[in-house]
Amino acid sequence: MKKAEAWRYLIVTGMIACTLVLVEYTGTVEVDDSLPVKSDLPRTIDGWVGVRTLYCQNEVCGKMLPMNLAEAGVNTCPLCGAKVSSMSVAERKHLPVDTIIIRKNYRNESTNRWILVSVVISGRERSSIHRPEWCLPGQGYRIAAYRHESVACEDHRSLPVTFIKIQAPGSLSTLQYGWFCYWFISKTHEVGSQTARLAWMAWDNVFYGVFRKWAYVSILADRVDSEQEEYDVEILKDFIKELRMVIRP
Ligand SMILES: [Zn+2]
Repeated sequence: MKKAEAWRYLIVTGMIACTLVLVEYTGTVEVDDSLPVKSDLPRTIDGWVGVRTLYCQNEVCGKMLPMNLAEAGVNTCPLCGAKVSSMSVAERKHLPVDTIIIRKNYRNESTNRWILVSVVISGRERSSIHRPEWCLPGQGYRIAAYRHESVACEDHRSLPVTFIKIQAPGSLSTLQYGWFCYWFISKTHEVGSQTARLAWMAWDNVFYGVFRKWAYVSILADRVDSEQEEYDVEILKDFIKELRMVIRP
């Protein structure tokens, strides 16, 4: 761990410890249940057309339904007949019950590229959202590089977003990469890292006595040729700018 990173962790840990002590001595923290983002994703985002993603709820099968079936409004798994849901079996098992997950697969018809958008809205427990980097290797992705980008938004804000260049599972060519990008939204803040999110959470608890819900917004984009890297980043930034506009309440 780098020195600066170690300091950040130390500060966040200190703030969380302070919160616990203060809550212990000053009473309970008020929970603000209002959602930081809308509870659904739109049908289209800037020319990209979205389809819900659905997962079979049978633990043995657990397949993701093909997009055409999801689009047709099928509500049982064509392989085993079990119910389907927007949450995978693993997510349902490991996340607190009041966690909300909204997901859509967006396709651009002219380029035939896709972007999977996932929004996880935390419940009353802290464990709904964890460090994104923990999940990627578990799903078979290799992390190749990090970029900290800022996306210029229409309200003159600059949105911090973490871009992770990933190598997809089973990809043999080192030229083939994809992108995983994320940021976090609460009613009062938008940040590009888990450390910053935890720091604001502790700040809200300590100084305002409130626990706010957070949304973890991520996008997964398909494989691209590494020679197009800068072009891809710009396309994704445009998409993120529009996505932010349509999901804010
Ligand atoms: Zn099934």
